[in-house]
Amino acid sequence: MSAPEVVAVRTRRLSATLVRPWGQDVRENHLIGVEVETADGLVGHGLSWTPSVGPSAVQAFIDDELAPRVVGCPSDPEAVWDSLWRAVHEAGGGGITTIALAGIDLALWDLTGLRTGRSLADLLGRGRDTVPVYGSGVNLHYTLDELAAQAQRFVAAGYDAVKVKVGSPDVGRDVERIAAVREIIGPHRVLMVDANQRWSVEDAVRAIDMLAPFGLGWVEEPLLADDLSGYRRLRGLVEARIALGENLHTIHRFRDFLEAGVVDVVQPNVVRVGGITPFLRIAELAEARGAELAPHLLPELSGPLALHFEGIARVEAVEGATFDALGALAGTPIEIGGGRLTASHRAGLGLALVPAEHERKVLR
Ligand code: MG
Repeated sequence: MSAPEVVAVRTRRLSATLVRPWGQDVRENHLIGVEVETADGLVGHGLSWTPSVGPSAVQAFIDDELAPRVVGCPSDPEAVWDSLWRAVHEAGGGGITTIALAGIDLALWDLTGLRTGRSLADLLGRGRDTVPVYGSGVNLHYTLDELAAQAQRFVAAGYDAVKVKVGSPDVGRDVERIAAVREIIGPHRVLMVDANQRWSVEDAVRAIDMLAPFGLGWVEEPLLADDLSGYRRLRGLVEARIALGENLHTIHRFRDFLEAGVVDVVQPNVVRVGGITPFLRIAELAEARGAELAPHLLPELSGPLALHFEGIARVEAVEGATFDALGALAGTPIEIGGGRLTASHRAGLGLALVPAEHERKVLR
């Protein structure tokens, strides 16, 4: 029996102020709540997310392009994802299209969970009950004192791994900061660095050579995410483990990078790739290729997925930026404590936004 058909799609935008801004120009995160209603009156909640760019475009894309195409379809994410993606592909294989698609896909997965009485982790099957979390700082703009204080908070929170931003105009500043963080976290915790696409190949070689003595778990996005050719060159020039994927949007691009042998740690963002349906395919591809899987942000989704995929060593949690900490959700499907994440057994995804009457409290 096929799933009841979709009869309505509703969207709502919510902009939540970050307690710890990600920079001068990133002071909030944007969520687009998506409700998908089916013929039997059930309502699934999904969301799209974009930290800084394009929330109104994402909402309009869902309203104008995806909603009319999904109404009348079965409420089965696996059955509709590919046809929806192909239908809107002329607007781009990835980016706004896939970020928007995620809102629909997640709402359909929520409906599957609600119908079967299962949480996301239980739908997929739990391989374990908890997963370690790593402390992630969006901190390139922090003073050295602020960075040191954050590293101390990460240690106090029980994290066995931390990630720090690099890519300062003066590489000497990066060296000073990474040295300070290594001193605080000690020799045994894992220390990753994230350049957020700031370096050229030459910059990356120089910086990695200077930072490697501090012991790097991985170097994340040293180059522009689009620059596969650059990653090929870099591969032959440094020994560091390379992590990337938060800015790749389709399984085709992940396959390009994996086949080129330039990536060790694959970091799909569940929303940016278009939801759980494509994430599962990318995760299986990464596992088949022997790459480590490390989902980008979104612990409310990455956590339950990590309980299923035991190859995910840790889940990323940016300080103060879980959806719960942003005050965006009417409840949360996860708990983080003692450096570990657990996920609820409650049916569905647990991603409903705060009720509209509370929205003003978190809106600008
Ligand atoms: Mg990153």
